[in-house]
Amino acid sequence: MNTFSVKLIEKIKRTPSIESFRFKIQQRIDFLPGQFVKVVFDEKDLQNKGINKYLSFSSSPGKDYVEVTKRLSDSAFSAHLKALREGESVLMQGPMGNCIFKEEYKKIGFLIGGIGITPVISILEYILEKKLVTDIILIYSSRNNNEIAFRPELNAWQEANSNLRILYTVTDCRPDDGICLQGRINRDMLRQRVPDLLARKFFIYGPPVMAKAMKDLCIASGCDKNEIMAENFVGY
Ligand SMILES: Cc1cc2nc3c(=O)[nH]c(=O)nc-3n(C[C@H](O)[C@H](O)[C@H](O)COP(=O)(O)OP(=O)(O)OC[C@H]3O[C@@H](n4cnc5c(N)ncnc54)[C@H](O)[C@@H]3O)c2cc1C
Repeated sequence: MNTFSVKLIEKIKRTPSIESFRFKIQQRIDFLPGQFVKVVFDEKDLQNKGINKYLSFSSSPGKDYVEVTKRLSDSAFSAHLKALREGESVLMQGPMGNCIFKEEYKKIGFLIGGIGITPVISILEYILEKKLVTDIILIYSSRNNNEIAFRPELNAWQEANSNLRILYTVTDCRPDDGICLQGRINRDMLRQRVPDLLARKFFIYGPPVMAKAMKDLCIASGCDKNEIMAENFVGY
């Protein structure tokens, strides 16, 4: 597996608790949309799980930078990320992961909760950059309206692309803008909003509990399990 050093160029606040970290790359990193890296703060002990953690790319492979996005917590790993200053280097190991988008997929769906949005951004950016004609539906559940990460980018992409449909739903409060749905992603929502469910390949990313719930939902709704791809964000 490759190990490479990257230099911080920018931190971007996405929501009160979610932040992106954008890094300059010395050379092209060949990754596929949907993959992740291990961000290494303990270079002497790559197995140190406390401060070496996995984060998905939240940028397309076509960019001249790489970006990762973290829901910041009080952990030592988060403290290391927060302490990074512009120009400082950090080690990454990877890329890794098989839950990847391929251009041959013509109709896809994403069932996403919270921070699981990060690899979706990489995939969407890739599809749009390459002007692929992929038909996409994203159902994106967040705690509340303030915690919808990447909303301006997603809205702009949706406006510019008739092949992209996005449904936001919030779980912890009543949506106040008249756009969001309310509640967890469930069977009725899926049936009503995605009538061509069985024609789509589904991608699920997120914390294990969420990922399992979404996989179960797809299966209960009649999807072929070979058409469901899931990546567990173990560690939540
Ligand atoms: C493939 C993959 C991709 C990921 N992509 C992202 C991403 O893009 N963005 C992102 O924010 N996170 C991502 N994660 C999760 C990330 O690696 C961290 O685990 C997570 O962000 C929590 O880190 P923390 O330091 O804030 O955790 P903490 O605040 O230390 O822990 C959060 C909670 O998880 C529990 N926990 C910690 N470690 C484990 C463990 N190993 N097993 C079970 N429970 C544990 C803790 O007890 C605590 O309740 C990804 C994980 C994987 C495996």
